Amino acid sequence: MPERAQTRQADPPRLDVSFIKSAARLDQCPPDEGPEVAFAGRSNAGKSSVLNRLTGSRRTAKVSKQPGRTQLLNFFAVQGTSGRLVDLPGYGYAKAERSAQASWQQSVNDYLSHRESLAGMVLVMDIRHPLQPFDEELIQWAHPSELPVLILLNKADKLKRGAQGKVLSAVRRSVKAYPLIQVQTFSAQTGQGVTELVATLKSWLKDETANEPTSTTEKAG
Ligand code: GDP
Repeated sequence: MPERAQTRQADPPRLDVSFIKSAARLDQCPPDEGPEVAFAGRSNAGKSSVLNRLTGSRRTAKVSKQPGRTQLLNFFAVQGTSGRLVDLPGYGYAKAERSAQASWQQSVNDYLSHRESLAGMVLVMDIRHPLQPFDEELIQWAHPSELPVLILLNKADKLKRGAQGKVLSAVRRSVKAYPLIQVQTFSAQTGQGVTELVATLKSWLKDETANEPTSTTEKAG
């Protein structure tokens, strides 16, 4: 099918990223400084597609899908900031693979429990199956550590607007008790919601130390 030119908007907002490295363990991660935003989600919720849409490049998440890298934490520098995105391994794949599940838990638990630079987490869900048990676990985990979480209800294009609104309201009601959780609809396929996503990420990736006045620049009178 021929693609129609999108004339409604100028260039959609996106983040310009470059791959830094993959890590199997905490001690292989890049230096723990500057803000970092983690992307998590059940396999098949569309995390890779979200990253591709966000960065405007199919190559971004392709890195994470390379054989041998799917169980690793994959780090990307966000140009124009001192921050990074980290693509966490997807969870909830083959139930039979208990050992794989355990290794996911080990590397991701370590990362989530110890990473000082973690400034926020994007939790990608399929809008048709939100808040699965492991999503809930991540939310429960993020709450006491006061980590802001953005729930992306992806694949919104699969539902009509009315149905999207219903799920959005229901999920917002479910997480009402957590003030640091935001929820939005998204479609990696159509780009719906990308402006809001980029705005949230930019606010998390702001380097809070960048604008601190240094004592040497202060001049009396
Ligand atoms: P991941 O395992 O979470 O990284 O998921 P992928 O990005 O590989 O996506 C899983 C499947 O869902 C693929 O077939 C994608 O084409 C599809 N998908 C991802 N995002 C969307 C979306 O927003 N809309 C639709 N309709 N399909 C999507």
